[in-house]
This record gives sequence, C-alpha cells and structure tokens, in this order.
Amino acid sequence: MENIVIIGSGPAGLTAAIYAARANLSPVVIDGMQPGGQLTQTTEVENFPGFEKPITGFELVQTMRKQAERFGVRFMMDAVNSCELTGATKKLSLMMNGTLEAQTVVIATGASARYLGLPSEEKLQGRGVSACATCDGSFFKGQRVAVVGGGDTAMEDALYLSRIAEHVTLIHRRDAFRASKIMVDRVLSTSNISILWNSVVEDVLDVTKGEVTGLKVKNVKSDVTSELAIQGLFIAIGHTPNTSIFAGQLELDAEGYLVAKDTRTSVPGVFAAGDVQDRHFKQAITSAGTGCIAALQAERYLATL
Ligand code: NDP
Repeated sequence: MENIVIIGSGPAGLTAAIYAARANLSPVVIDGMQPGGQLTQTTEVENFPGFEKPITGFELVQTMRKQAERFGVRFMMDAVNSCELTGATKKLSLMMNGTLEAQTVVIATGASARYLGLPSEEKLQGRGVSACATCDGSFFKGQRVAVVGGGDTAMEDALYLSRIAEHVTLIHRRDAFRASKIMVDRVLSTSNISILWNSVVEDVLDVTKGEVTGLKVKNVKSDVTSELAIQGLFIAIGHTPNTSIFAGQLELDAEGYLVAKDTRTSVPGVFAAGDVQDRHFKQAITSAGTGCIAALQAERYLATL
C-alpha cells in the first residue's frame, strides 16, 4: 500500500511530489497521457517567479521533474483507467500496470483543449485543424492560418504563429478580448495579425484534397457569412477538466471541475490540485501552489490515521 499516489505530472503533480518526497512519504506519480501536462505545449513562460529570462514550458516541467527525481519520487509511465476512492483504501486501476492501492491520492489530471464541435472540424483534425500551435505551427510556414478565441491562449498562439505563418486571422465571437492587456497589445501591434470581431466559424472547408483550405465565418452582428482562405485552423477556446473517471465518487461543479476546499475534495484522503479544480486562474504558478497545499494536506491526513 502506497502512502500517496499523485495522478498527473504537470506543475501541480510535480510540486505535490516534491513536497511529499521531502516529507518522506515516498510518493508515486502516474504520468498520465501527456507527461508534463499542458505546460509542455506552451511557448515561452515569462511569469514563473525565479526565472529572470523566459524559459520554455517544456524546460520548466523538465526542471521540476529532475528536482522531484532528486528526492526519489517514483514515476510510472501509465494512466488511470478507473478508480475506487470512497473507501479508506483508494484503489487505482492502471492502463498497463495493474492496480495500485494508496492511503491518499492527489488528483492533478489537469484539463484538455476544447473544440468547437463542428463535424468538419473533427474530420480535419491533424489535417489542418489543431488545438496546439506550438505542436503543429511549424507545418504552416509561410501559409495563412486562423486562430479562434479571445483569451490569453489565443493571443499567445496568434503571436507564435505570426512568426511562422505569412498571416494570422484571429477570429473572436465578441468585440472585446478577455486576454490580459499586455498580450492584447502585442497582438494589436503585430502587422501580420488581423482580427475578425463578432465572428464565429460555421464550417471548416476542404474543397481540394481532405486538408483545410478555408473557413465559412459568420458575423454574428450582421448575419453575413463569408469565406476565408486559410490552410491551418488553431482552436484556442479554453479547456475541459479531466474528471470523467471521478464522476459519481467526488463532487464536481456544473462544468465538471472537482470541488475542493483548500485542495480537500468531498472524500477524505483525496486531494485535488491544479487546473482540474481551478476554473479561474489556471497558471503554472497557481497549479504549483495548489500542488504544494495538496501534499501538505495529505501529510496531515496521514498523520491522523
Ligand atoms: P479562456 O477561458 O480565458 O478563454 C477562452 C476564449 O475562447 C474566450 O475568449 C471565449 O470567448 C472563447 N470561446 C469559448 N468557447 C467558445 C466557442 N464555443 N466558440 C468561440 N469562442 C469560444 O481560455 P484560455 O485557454 O485562453 O486561458 C485559460 C486561462 O489560462 C486564463 O486564465 C488565462 O489567463 C491563462 N493563460 C495565461 C497565459 C499567460 O499568462 N501567458 C497563457 C495562456 C493562458 P468569450 O471571451 O466570449 O467568453
């Protein structure tokens, strides 16, 4: 029986692991389907304290991982299929390595990119449609691309793509961005980014050979529909928390986020950290912070057993 199993290896999971290891709890981290989490897909991180110069998201999580390894954290390249969390012994069924039993569990499974939900978008995923500019942007060197969204991710993606593509059209459903001012200012002052306000993508077009050739875009104010010729479509409209395997056992809110008070979920001995329980802030530093709190809470809980 393990003292503590941490599900997820982004900044929340890794920080929980570092704290748990330093408390001699000998934690196990289950990497999950995307080791390192969403941060591995961002470009430069400029706002994580302690780094005077920008660092890539990938380097940042790799550094955290090495730090965790230095304290003897065990990593399993596996994912949790199903779980039984409500009893005193928590049981986790893994995709490849059987079952793990633990006294406490920290859930740091993060969130996954949301899509628009158009059949044509689904059909053309990997053939011009992507939710990860840093993964797929380089395929569109010198081409025309579009980004959908009005948050910081959309701004970051548009700026990143503007350095690769010939032109970026940023499509937003309203007439104001919700992104931070510094990011919006950078976008507005980039000459090869143009903005389609009050606009929604109605269809992704592939008139030639099963690859994206354009978009049908509707202006929601005028109801006028037009076509935009592009080769790449990047969706940046937020994320859905990865909580499906916990439904029915742990309290979730209306959007599927784990409900947690100071990282304590509705079940004793189960803690939640990072984006899986945070619908508001979603920063690497806030994820790391809640990872720390979750490990401290688990340590306290174990002391009461
Ligand atoms: P957000 O939820 O902040 O923004 C999502 C955007 O997508 C909104 O503009 C929203 O429009 C739009 N949208 C949502 N659903 C649809 C839809 N169905 N069709 C069209 N548009 C849609 O998500 P982000 O991923 O951008 O950011 C999440 C968090 O991460 C934020 O807190 C952000 O600050 C943070 N972040 C910080 C970064 C940094 O500091 N460098 C980098 C990236 C993210 P509407 O505005 O109308 O609701």
